[in-house]
Amino acid sequence: MYTDTEVLIIGTGFAGLGMSIRLMQEGLTNFTVLEQAGEVGGTWRDNHYPGVACDVPSHLYSYSFEQNPRWSRLFAPQREIFDYLKHCADKYGVRPHIHFHSEVVKAVFDERRGQWEVTTQAGKVYRARVLISGSGGLSRPSFPEIPGRERFAGKTVHTARWDHDYPLAGKRVAVIGTGASAIQVVPGIVDKVGHLSLFQRTPAWVLPKPNIRMDDKQQKRLAKNPWLQRAIRNGIYWFLESRALGFTGHMPGMQAKTEVQARKFLAQQVKDPVLRAKLTPNYKVGCKRMLISNSYYAALQKPNASLVTSGIREITERGIVTQDGVEHEFDAIVFATGFQAAEAVAPFELRGRNGLDLNEAWRDGAEAYKGTAVAGFPNFFLLVGPNTGLGHNSMVFMIESQLQYVLDGLKQLRARGSDSVVEVKPDVQQKYNRDLAERMSKTVWATGGCVSWYQTKSGKNTTLWPGFTFEYRLRTRKFDLENYELRKLEPRSRPREKAQPELQAPHPAE
Ligand code: NAP
Repeated sequence: MYTDTEVLIIGTGFAGLGMSIRLMQEGLTNFTVLEQAGEVGGTWRDNHYPGVACDVPSHLYSYSFEQNPRWSRLFAPQREIFDYLKHCADKYGVRPHIHFHSEVVKAVFDERRGQWEVTTQAGKVYRARVLISGSGGLSRPSFPEIPGRERFAGKTVHTARWDHDYPLAGKRVAVIGTGASAIQVVPGIVDKVGHLSLFQRTPAWVLPKPNIRMDDKQQKRLAKNPWLQRAIRNGIYWFLESRALGFTGHMPGMQAKTEVQARKFLAQQVKDPVLRAKLTPNYKVGCKRMLISNSYYAALQKPNASLVTSGIREITERGIVTQDGVEHEFDAIVFATGFQAAEAVAPFELRGRNGLDLNEAWRDGAEAYKGTAVAGFPNFFLLVGPNTGLGHNSMVFMIESQLQYVLDGLKQLRARGSDSVVEVKPDVQQKYNRDLAERMSKTVWATGGCVSWYQTKSGKNTTLWPGFTFEYRLRTRKFDLENYELRKLEPRSRPREKAQPELQAPHPAE
């Protein structure tokens, strides 16, 4: 039994949900969305650890077509962002298209029919002319390869899979990691636990967080004046965009200025010179994601907190042994160790033309054209694909650029009949990636002297866009069909033409 649909979208985070909404807006209603969980929201559904919030101002970190005057703060907490995404799903009527509890395990391109055949964990099979993956780079938690991790007898939890039922009160808790998640969870739990030990391998550059509260009066004023919302959104956009000048090597002086600011903040917050030295990074600002927090340094200086810098040797039944041979005993270990992003591949088996496996195509690191199309994978589009991530501005801006590109591609494909198949030309993809690598080599992400999750183990940056976001927007405004092979299916193998069927009722949990 197959379920046929014109477009199949995987995921309901900002990318997948945004794609569904844009299709609805354009009257393209013959699509189905597969979501592995029971609710929309992607990373903003899954990350609910104490203290979680966005570190990009919410008036910008939201869809341009659905601005929200009701953000309670400049940097909204996770709950509000999650609620916002649920609201978008309801308002734009995409829920009937979503099949929840439908984890994709396999997607194979059927060359004869010119269709993707997508199988879920429950064994249901979908056939779609176009496959769009919005499965996200930050969806699969990463656990470090520390020997003995499975031996630990206490509680282990990853920030992206928090267990709110575990009582933290009075517990000896280790937190591993000092990235964007750790910097939020440490202040989020320090007052609840008995003792908190933060295991730091690399210190982060931290700036103050101007987390302005938006009271009811201000929210009402924004609701009444959409122009004011747009002005704030634009102001934030250009402020953040200006940071690319420093990061991409155009104005290195900007970074030096930011570093001075961060050092000053550290000096104000941490008086103990020994602790301050431990918290001072030895790489350039921006090489790893810049962090913002007003409570991180304060949390580390609480009487029940300590910073451990001697490196982890192994995990035992009782706790963590550091390189100096000391065993630190814990009741719980929190892994704030990020996501499998750079090595990322489809989190399921994905086979294109001639059975080509995406993992195999990407064995030397993920590559795509405009982060969206991959040679060998016809009628397949990636959202938040390789080198579309950002170190300086809102991902939602990049996502909306991609949505426009894919939407235009879909329209062009439709205009050429249901028997057409598009695939990016391999030489176009290669040239695009050569240029990208050349530009990347001049950025702080390559020259800043750090190791980051933006890179693969071999050092290739497969995650970040190495330029200005407005440039990416301009490049994705129109689908450049001339850079794609357009093929027609053999007449005999064509699937029967049929009018766009109306969507059926949503499937119950499958
Ligand atoms: P991350 O930035 O990858 O940080 C992982 C941390 O774990 C690093 O500090 C890393 O140390 C540490 N680590 C890994 N293996 C270790 C080991 N064996 N021993 C000791 N430490 C180890 O992950 P994240 O903090 O979850 O953030 C990932 C991304 O998610 C962010 O960059 C951001 O894009 C997104 N995020 C966004 C927000 C937001 O507010 N918008 C919040 C959270 C996350 P090293 O630095 O030495 O490698």
